[in-house]
Amino acid sequence: MAHVIVGGGLAGASAVEELREQGYDGDVVVLGAESYLPYHRPPLSKEVLLGKEEADGTDVHDAQWYADQGVDMRTGSAARRIDRLRQVVETDAGDVAYERLLLATGSEPRRLPVEGAVYLRTRDDSRALRAALLQQPRVLVVGGGWIGLEVTAAARAAGCEVTVVEPQAQPLLGVVGERVGSMFADLHREHGVDLRLGTSFDGTPPVPADLVLVAVGAVPRVDLARDAGLDVDNGVLVDATLRTSDPLVLAAGDIAAHDHPVFGRLRVEHWDNAIEQGKAAARVMLGGTEAYERSPYFFTDQYDLGMEYVGHVPREHLGSVVVRGDLAARQAVVFWHDAGRVLGAMHVNEWDAIDEMRELVGQTVDPDQLSRRTT
Ligand SMILES: Cc1cc2nc3c(=O)[nH]c(=O)nc-3n(C[C@H](O)[C@H](O)[C@H](O)COP(=O)(O)OP(=O)(O)OC[C@H]3O[C@@H](n4cnc5c(N)ncnc54)[C@H](O)[C@@H]3O)c2cc1C
Repeated sequence: MAHVIVGGGLAGASAVEELREQGYDGDVVVLGAESYLPYHRPPLSKEVLLGKEEADGTDVHDAQWYADQGVDMRTGSAARRIDRLRQVVETDAGDVAYERLLLATGSEPRRLPVEGAVYLRTRDDSRALRAALLQQPRVLVVGGGWIGLEVTAAARAAGCEVTVVEPQAQPLLGVVGERVGSMFADLHREHGVDLRLGTSFDGTPPVPADLVLVAVGAVPRVDLARDAGLDVDNGVLVDATLRTSDPLVLAAGDIAAHDHPVFGRLRVEHWDNAIEQGKAAARVMLGGTEAYERSPYFFTDQYDLGMEYVGHVPREHLGSVVVRGDLAARQAVVFWHDAGRVLGAMHVNEWDAIDEMRELVGQTVDPDQLSRRTT
């Protein structure tokens, strides 16, 4: 029987890599619903939209790599149902029996009932959006989150007029808080964006728009898991080692609501998490018992701002923030803490700070020292 991975995305590809890296030479089957090999999504809202990279240039590995690894990579092959009693995954082309099963079905954009709205998740979405931006439409972006803001930056670079509507008082308020959120607001306003904060979108564009991009978050694709009777609650519930309520079935990446040993129940929709959880799940498929303990990590690029973020800061601690450097000049390292215990850290254009940030997350440090320490 094979090790089977459902979901041909980044978490799935990373799991395959690790299975072989660990010396497993048995059968590996990957079922991917998309017609493409697994690819990286971060460039889809950045380099691809800016015309710096081709949409089909972001493959994790090429077809030859999967062939060389002896992996049965089935693109355009969705899993329809999981029968845990028989230990098979049902597809249109027949059943695939599994010894261990990894679910890595990712997430999809939350939709709003807006006729003609566009969304950004896939390679095809990105390609179509790039072509549309080149026509310089008047763009309305619904949602001032990461993807909304990255598309905004790309649309401005393409010469489009852009309006962003965001119901909260600052963009990214729930992730970075008031102070850092206002830095992102300033960044976009300085680049000529009509940023309308505290504005809920009721379906009627507040300004004339030729293109409406809805970017109001993502929802995990949990139907397969739920239908198979696995425990699901805002993601597929997994223990510290990424096992679902059925120990033969694991979950990784965007769909996994993980019992993190440090941060508690956490579902992380980030690139690094898909890579590292995919690998960690593969080790557990091979009999490993290690808990997944890595701190969430995220990055973004908007205009000339590059940032990296490590950790997890619950909303109630977003106000406990220490800034080292000059946030207004967009050259700074930011720490969030709970009575000195560092919960999260982020740098803005301070690329040398990342190692120190990783080191400090979880440690207790005098906040005064945090603001002074030099990297
Ligand atoms: C436009 C964009 C920009 C991003 N930028 C950043 C960034 O800058 N930094 C960052 O950290 N993260 C970023 N992310 C998030 C990051 O890309 C995701 O966290 C990551 O792709 C998650 O990987 P995954 O493998 O869990 O899921 P996915 O990449 O969604 O892959 C899951 C795959 O499973 C397939 N699938 C679903 N159901 C089935 C089924 N029944 N059978 C078979 N296959 C199925 C899907 O079609 C999909 O191909 C971005 C995401 C997007 C969309």
